[in-house]
Amino acid sequence: MSQAAPDLSAVSMDLGEDYPEIRASVRRICADFPGSYWRDLDEKEAYPSDFVQAMTDAGFLSALIPEEYGGAGLPLRAAGVVLEEIHACGGNAGATHAQMYTMGTVLRHGSAAQKSLYLPQIASGALRLQAFGVTEPTSGTDTTKLKTRALREGDEYVINGQKIWTSRALYSDLMLLLARTTPLEDVKKKSEGLSVFLVDMRKAVGNGMTIRPIKAMINHNTTEVFFDNLRIPADSLIGQEGQGLRCIMDGMNAERILVAHESIGDAKWFIKTAVKYANERVIFDRPIGKNQGIQFPIAKAYAQTQAAELMLRKSAAVYEANQPCGEYANLTKLLTAEAAWEAGEACMQTHGGFAYAREYDIERKWREARVQRTAPISTNLILSYIAEHVLGLPRSY
Ligand SMILES: Cc1cc2nc3c(=O)[nH]c(=O)nc-3n(C[C@H](O)[C@H](O)[C@H](O)COP(=O)(O)OP(=O)(O)OC[C@H]3O[C@@H](n4cnc5c(N)ncnc54)[C@H](O)[C@@H]3O)c2cc1C
Repeated sequence: MSQAAPDLSAVSMDLGEDYPEIRASVRRICADFPGSYWRDLDEKEAYPSDFVQAMTDAGFLSALIPEEYGGAGLPLRAAGVVLEEIHACGGNAGATHAQMYTMGTVLRHGSAAQKSLYLPQIASGALRLQAFGVTEPTSGTDTTKLKTRALREGDEYVINGQKIWTSRALYSDLMLLLARTTPLEDVKKKSEGLSVFLVDMRKAVGNGMTIRPIKAMINHNTTEVFFDNLRIPADSLIGQEGQGLRCIMDGMNAERILVAHESIGDAKWFIKTAVKYANERVIFDRPIGKNQGIQFPIAKAYAQTQAAELMLRKSAAVYEANQPCGEYANLTKLLTAEAAWEAGEACMQTHGGFAYAREYDIERKWREARVQRTAPISTNLILSYIAEHVLGLPRSY
């Protein structure tokens, strides 16, 4: 027997706003972009231009831009709800989310001139800020060892080096770039000497910047970016020279919380899809959902998803309150990615062989959900953060 939903307003624990109107509005847009749309893009490795346009027109991609710059000025949780609903509807927010998580860096550390130049154009959709260049082929997760150099020469910085996995670079006008401005051997702390730049890619491509697509397991429009004496104006620097890692960390915590919403959306989609099929598919003269071997993994994934969602709401509230949120952002990223993975596995197993048929979208969603255990930060690095910075265990590397 199903129970009536509890009235959470009667409970003293504040779960924060859930934005039902935003959810309904995103669902209406997503109805025009069904599974066949995403499958077709996946096969062609194409960019979801029509979907991005629809989300821009509805104002969702400027959710985090303050109203004075033409955005909606919504809290992080509201932006996360947008991403969650896209994933819960069977779509993918990968083409759109960077515009949201880069805001943590631009809003908190960008100058007034940078904000008034770029934010209104990003809010209107005239410019896309969708590329975030941090990862490099030789340094990977060890960010402070990155080799891309930015050298000040008069009114310019000259950039040389290479980034990898820079997603959406071919479809973005602006890139947030992390580069070293002071050599590692000349800084007191290895986290110093890195700087963040807002690069106008419209001017850079062909003038020192080359972008090459990477063929990947999921359709994420990801690329390698090469810098060969790229000259950018000195006022492209965001925040203070040498303090770039700190600036970008604000964006990274926001990124973890935002993409965690995507995992919750994936988990909800997997659970809903698995339950429907388990009720409908009749084998041995009864629905397969009657078997506890089918029920229990779905029920367990549901429990994990509910728990992960609570942590997600806590981390969004802590971020919004401008409090240190490294612990919560990391816990959230870990728990939501694992919940989505368990739900994906339950959905795959419930569908038997049909899980492999592309028309069901399960194998696509499963491939897409997997990336959250690796990017933007991998599970191991989250665990070592919690061990060292939260529990006080010795640094392991
Ligand atoms: C689809 C996709 C899109 C991406 N988009 C972007 C993007 O837009 N911008 C961007 O900058 N990057 C992007 N990335 C890169 C992503 O952030 C990195 O792949 C990720 O941070 C891991 O880095 P790495 O691949 O170099 O792994 P490595 O650093 O080489 O690590 C390999 C493995 O070893 C483990 N490991 C390493 N050191 C330790 C340690 N000390 N203790 C325990 N385990 C350890 C890691 O956890 C990982 O499992 C993307 C990646 C993918 C796959």
